[in-house]
Parts: sequence; C-alpha cells; structure tokens
Amino acid sequence: MNRLITRKVVENVHRLRTLQMSFCTDAGAKLSSSNVGQEHPKTQGVSNKIQEHDVAIVGGGMVGLALACSLASMPLTKHLNVAIIDSNPALLSGLRVKKEDPPDPRVSTVTPATMSFFKEIGAWKYVEQHRHAYFDKMQVWDYTGLGYTKYNARDVDKEFLGCVVENKVLQSSLLSCIQERTDFQKTIYPSRLTTLHRNSSSVGVGSTSSALPTHEWKNPVKLDLTDGSSLRAKLVVGADGAKSNVRELAGFTTTGWNYSQNAVICTVEHDIENQCAWQRFLPSGPIALLPIGDNYSNIVWTMNPKEAADRKEMPESEFLKDVNYALDYGFGPHPSSTRFGNGGIFSWLKPDVTSSVTESFEVPPKVMKLASGRMVFPLSLRHANNYASKNVVLIGDAAHTVHPLAGQGVNMGFGDALALSKVIAEGVAVGTDIGEVSLLKKFEGERKLENIAMMGILDGIQKAYSVDFGPLNVLRAAAFHGANYISPLKKNIISYASGEHRLPIFS
Ligand SMILES: Cc1cc2nc3c(=O)[nH]c(=O)nc-3n(C[C@H](O)[C@H](O)[C@H](O)COP(=O)(O)OP(=O)(O)OC[C@H]3O[C@@H](n4cnc5c(N)ncnc54)[C@H](O)[C@@H]3O)c2cc1C
Repeated sequence: MNRLITRKVVENVHRLRTLQMSFCTDAGAKLSSSNVGQEHPKTQGVSNKIQEHDVAIVGGGMVGLALACSLASMPLTKHLNVAIIDSNPALLSGLRVKKEDPPDPRVSTVTPATMSFFKEIGAWKYVEQHRHAYFDKMQVWDYTGLGYTKYNARDVDKEFLGCVVENKVLQSSLLSCIQERTDFQKTIYPSRLTTLHRNSSSVGVGSTSSALPTHEWKNPVKLDLTDGSSLRAKLVVGADGAKSNVRELAGFTTTGWNYSQNAVICTVEHDIENQCAWQRFLPSGPIALLPIGDNYSNIVWTMNPKEAADRKEMPESEFLKDVNYALDYGFGPHPSSTRFGNGGIFSWLKPDVTSSVTESFEVPPKVMKLASGRMVFPLSLRHANNYASKNVVLIGDAAHTVHPLAGQGVNMGFGDALALSKVIAEGVAVGTDIGEVSLLKKFEGERKLENIAMMGILDGIQKAYSVDFGPLNVLRAAAFHGANYISPLKKNIISYASGEHRLPIFS
C-alpha cells in the first residue's frame, strides 16, 4: 500500500515537473530554473506533490511583473520564493522584443514617478534599449475653441513630462530584469488560476483534491490551476487585471460602472517625428496622439461603441481622414487667444505666469498611414472596496480600473507594486507573517486614498466632457484657462500627474 502511494507521489511530482518544463520555452524555463525540477526545501516532509511559495502572484502583466521585479531587487525580499501564474503566451515565449519590430498598438504613458521606480528596480535600462519617446510638451484643447492649455516640462524645471512606451517593451524589460537576478527564487506557472482554498474553505470552481488535510498545509492558501497543477502560498497577490479572478474568488466586492464609451487604439505614422503629447476633447470623448519614437505616434480615441465599431472596420483612408479631422478643424475652431484676451480673466496673474503660457496653439503633425491594426476596448471605472484580506491582496487593475484619458492606469498599478513590496519587506524585517492582514492593511491604507483621489479626478473630467451645454462649455474653458495661467495651479497639476506629488490633502 505504502509503495503504491510513494509511486503515485513520485509519478505526480514527475507529471508536474514535466508539465511546467514542457510549457516553458526558453525564458520561461530559465525563469523557473531555480525551483522547477528541484525539490524546494520547504516542501520536504510536507508534500512532494505541491510546491510551496512565500508569494504567489496571479497575473504576469505589467503590474504583476513589476511586483516580482521589485521583490527581487530588495535585500530583505530577494530571498522570498515567488510564483508567477499566467498563461499569456508572450510570457512563455520569452517576450523577445526587437527595436526594429513593427510598433504595437498597446502603449502606456509612464510618469516620472514610474521611471524612477523602474530605475530603482533595474528595469529602465532595458526600456531604453527599445523604442520609447520622452516628451516635454503636452497640448490639451477642446472642440469648442474655448478651452486650451499647454504644459511644458520647463514649467516645473524638469527635462520631460513623461515617456510613452509600448506595453510589450515594459513587460519584456521587467522580465529581463527578473531573469538577470539569478539568485531570485521564482517559478512561472504557465496556466490560469481556477480555485483558491483558504485554510479549510474552498472558493471557486474545480476540484478540491489535496493530498493532505488542510490543517497540515505548510502555507495557508492553496491555488489550483487550469493545467491541473496546484501550489500553496503564504500570500496571494491578485494582479490579474480588470476581470480579476482572485478578486472574485476571495470575495472582494467592487464599486463602479461602465462608461458608454469605447476606446479605439492604433499606431500611426507621420512624415516627421512627433515630440509632443496631444489631446483634444471632442463631443464624444477625447482623442490623444502620443509620440512613441521614430516617426510613429499612438492614437487613443474615445467614442460611443457604435462609432468605435464603425471606425475599427472602415477603410484605412477614411479612418485617417477622420483622425486628421478630429485633431485639426473638425467639430469646431482652433482655440484663439482673443477669446479670453491673452489670459483674459487671469491676466492679472501675468507677472507670475509659467513659461508655457506664452506658447501659442499648434496643429498636431498630420497622420499619414496606419502602422498597426486597430483595437477596441470598452471603458469602465471599477474599484475594489478593499485591497487586502488575510493572505490575499489586490494590485493594479484588479484593484482599480480607470478611464485612459490621462494615461494613469498602469502608473497607479506600479505605485501599488512599489508600496506592496515595501510593506512585504517591512514584514520580513520584523519577522511578521507576510500574509497577516494587519500588515497588508498598511499597504491598503497607503494606496487606497491616493487611488480614489485619482479616480475621482479622472471620472470628473470624463463627466464634465460628456455634456455639450453652452454655460458648461464656458465653465470648462475657464477651468482650462485657470490651469494654463495660474502658475502654482499649473505646477501642481503637472507634479500630481507626474506621480511625484500627492494632492495637498494627502501630503
Ligand atoms: C485604451 C487604453 C489605453 C491605456 N493607456 C494607458 C496609459 O497611457 N498609461 C497608463 O498608465 N495606463 C493606461 N491604460 C491602463 C493600463 O493598460 C492598465 O492599467 C494596465 O494594463 C493594468 O495592468 P495589470 O498588470 O494590472 O493588468 P493586465 O494588463 O490586465 O494584466 C493582467 C494579467 O493577468 C493575467 N490573468 C488574468 N486572469 C488570470 C488568471 N485567472 N490566472 C492567471 N493569470 C491571469 C492576464 O493574462 C494578464 O497577463 C490604458 C488602458 C486602455 C484600455
């Protein structure tokens, strides 16, 4: 009987290893080399069947990988045994991105705060090896011709306001950074989470088969994956995006709504290099033209779902005509300085104005052709009412999803990754269980208020622009002009959007 059990256990271990090894191509195999195929000491004497981990990160998107990279970079956390669970094929193929590859339609505007974080964890040097575009100017205006503002990095004595990077570059840079840390114990599980078992409870779909009764588990949470394998961890991090399984399985409730707007995104080519971030508010939503390096720009254009479906399918020439129309004279006139009279109601502030006030309106560079396919994303606002419970925590889009109008979503997620890794390090330093809810609530306390404030601002802007009504248009224009002419306000807006300063109420 005992021999039979032993044979079964050995067979199972072999099956698990084979599964993991066979799914991992180059990078994946390298990533998992530190414990797939070897017996981890923590598993000895408990179960050879199920791998034990300190942290299981569900979701190897940009935010999940940033957390792994941050843990790998800190002396107090680099010895933790970390699992990353994600079936994303790009992660498995090693995410080999070449500079000469055609540009991807999915990009992110990253803030100076995110750049500092990436530098701190050693990932920015990899970003710099690929296509990216720093920008030092941003022009925002609206279709009424009333609202106009220009931001310049010089206003806050900085070299740039942000940098636009393709998502696959951010992801591959983080992955390279993790691979570089050979002493970091990490395992990639090329699969998806189906079930979470906490202590004796089980949530989710799928079988609950375990070799041992739950009281004998070394680590308190068991995760079952779609490929039939299981693992256990002290701390499960839900970094699995807007439709987070972890959030649902662990019972976190959310507040939010869907916007009746979709975003059409694509990459386009100009005859000249674009070096400014442009955003124009149109009746159906904003259109942004973001530089991504070489002669390419990325378009994020928000509109109602029907328009989005039509614009995705229409011939390229018609689409380009619409884009150029939307970025120039379409829907209304160019802003004119005489409407508010060279600062108009704010002209008394002139002696104190910032340098960009004197810069006049510019028409964005003309779009010549499509450089990628068009993709459509439904937009929503969603916020988890809590980010932390015993042994489980949420970060990134799993905790909060926002409208992309100010390019803040993933930056908020990177802020979570940084804050959580620091809280975990704090727990390790004082010898606290890293799944302890009081420790995880520290992370929640730090991030929740900040994220809610940013969400409120983004939702407010979205709502202010969803109504086309004369007096409101003038009010919006006044707000635009205030943001343009009142120097301290302008500096505060730039610093806040850069992620470098909190709103005064939080500082
Ligand atoms: C049109 C558009 C433009 C945007 N532009 C910007 C911008 O300019 N700047 C900015 O800051 N933000 C921007 N955002 C927001 C940004 O894209 C998101 O905030 C970001 O992708 C969130 O990253 P994440 O890692 O939290 O989640 P995701 O990117 O969604 O990654 C989640 C990962 O989890 C994995 N996963 C899901 N379920 C499971 C499961 N059950 N088991 C295992 N793995 C699972 C997925 O495969 C995926 O890899 C934009 C969003 C949109 C829609």
